[in-house]
Amino acid sequence: MRVLVTGGAGYIGSHACQRLLRDGHHIVALDNLHRGHQQPMDLLKSQHPDSFDFIHSDLGDTETVLGALNAHNLDTVMHFGALAYVGESVEDPLWYYRNNISSAIGLLDACDQCHDGKGISRFIFSSSCATYGNPPEDKIPVPEDCPQSPTSPYGYTKLHMEHILKDYAQKRSIDDNPIALTMLRYFNVAGSDRSGMLGEDHTPETHLIPVAIEAALGKRESLSIFGTDYPTPDGTNVRDYVHVEDLIDAHVLAMHTVERGQVEAFNVGIGEGYSVRQILDSVKRVSGVDFPVHDAPRRAGDAIALFNNPTKIKSTLGWEAKITDIDEIVKTAYDWMKDHPDGY
Ligand code: UDP
Repeated sequence: MRVLVTGGAGYIGSHACQRLLRDGHHIVALDNLHRGHQQPMDLLKSQHPDSFDFIHSDLGDTETVLGALNAHNLDTVMHFGALAYVGESVEDPLWYYRNNISSAIGLLDACDQCHDGKGISRFIFSSSCATYGNPPEDKIPVPEDCPQSPTSPYGYTKLHMEHILKDYAQKRSIDDNPIALTMLRYFNVAGSDRSGMLGEDHTPETHLIPVAIEAALGKRESLSIFGTDYPTPDGTNVRDYVHVEDLIDAHVLAMHTVERGQVEAFNVGIGEGYSVRQILDSVKRVSGVDFPVHDAPRRAGDAIALFNNPTKIKSTLGWEAKITDIDEIVKTAYDWMKDHPDGY
């Protein structure tokens, strides 16, 4: 297939490009390099000179995106490009809404207008378990029919985008020109590609596993646990950590399985919850370093416990996480960060 990957220079987007190129697809990555990196784009181009292109652009630049969709005859869009920090979204919600929604509508305009008005055939959206907020007790582990009630502006940007995309898909069906729409609600994505080429390199870094690895590598003095009085077994938040390669697997399966006229949402998480303390123990085991940890107040916007009920994605797409051992997931992240002490 011929795929536009927005946010292609970012952590998850670059892993998607790598996998799709390995599978023989033609890929155009688009990224404004605000938080993405040129280096993985150069690496992928050197390996796949004929089937990969990178465009440095904002995804809300409709003219540029339209030009790319038409010039490369792209039929599928995987939309990863977004701001993705819960805490930051509480501090600057308008930035999050502008970037994750307004810009995405610019992208959708291009997706609608391309190919002489026929538009693209397939859209796969990176949604989030943050759309669920704090699920009721009988919805943990979380199924796709759990009520969606985010606790942060970030979660709302993802939920609003789901509604916008569903409305757009409905319009395409009314026009008798249906689109295949998949919304993948990611749980916490972690680790990096096991060939060691790609990794997670964020500035600033706020995600738990890379922050803990930075502490283990001596790049920060200590780590703060945001909240130790939650109603969970050890008082810290519980999350479901899915390896980035397994996450991309779900995209590939969705691309091949969801048909035009279908609108599907799937949770992507391994189905097991780990507390913040359990993750820190894992990073300490993998690194062999007992870095200092401090208790700190709760972080605004954080949900208490989120882990997936993977029944639907398993039965519909045949997806199952292949890497389920938390130490193995952490080790892939650790190895890359150790080999790239200054990131890319
Ligand atoms: N967390 C923490 N200290 C940190 C970073 C994160 O205690 O330095 C906690 C955070 O409060 C949340 C969990 O780790 O409960 C996962 O946070 P992360 O930012 O990695 O992902 P999120 O769940 O917000 O998408």
